Amino acid sequence: MSEIQIMVVKCANCGSTLNVEVNDEITYCISCGSGFELVDGKLFPIEVNFISPTIPEQGKLIYKPFWKLETNVNIIERDAGSNLFKKLFSNNSSQPERLLNFVIPAFDCSIESLKKLAFYYTFQNPPLSPQKFSINLKGFSYGREDARKLAEFILISFEAEKPDTIRSLKYELKFLNDSILGIPFYLLENKTLIDGVSGMIVK
Ligand SMILES: [Zn+2]
Repeated sequence: MSEIQIMVVKCANCGSTLNVEVNDEITYCISCGSGFELVDGKLFPIEVNFISPTIPEQGKLIYKPFWKLETNVNIIERDAGSNLFKKLFSNNSSQPERLLNFVIPAFDCSIESLKKLAFYYTFQNPPLSPQKFSINLKGFSYGREDARKLAEFILISFEAEKPDTIRSLKYELKFLNDSILGIPFYLLENKTLIDGVSGMIVK
């Protein structure tokens, strides 16, 4: 097990000290609520929003980071009986380009949980709450490029997991804008992690 290396940087907005783990690609300033992407040790601003918990409180309230990737999905060709894209988009096949906001966990969790959370939040699009400043938002395991690959994986998974078999799928995925979402979880004493909106247990 390797030790976590901490790098100290100053918030580009308010000057507060930010303790960043060396592998983190995103840091959130607890003092002023600014988010930054770290590229080669430099800070680049990135929008951070939060979602409020909706299930009854249990355990300790914590927030986990997600990527919100606004995309334009263009289905060029698909060959199967599935109705995914009827579900994802309104039913107008003459306009194949549609906006879709992927919400992808940026923290480390099992692939099963990652898929469930991504499916849930990409479909639900829960409303954003006013920004909360003094909330810790740490543990970014996936950077922007990882998140984009995961979005593509989620798009394909939506299809592949239908009971019918998709024979071909050709698509274009254009990334328009990326931001960070803090989503509430309850951490129980036995370390169980429960999503504060859907109630699902995350492993
Ligand atoms: Zn700050």
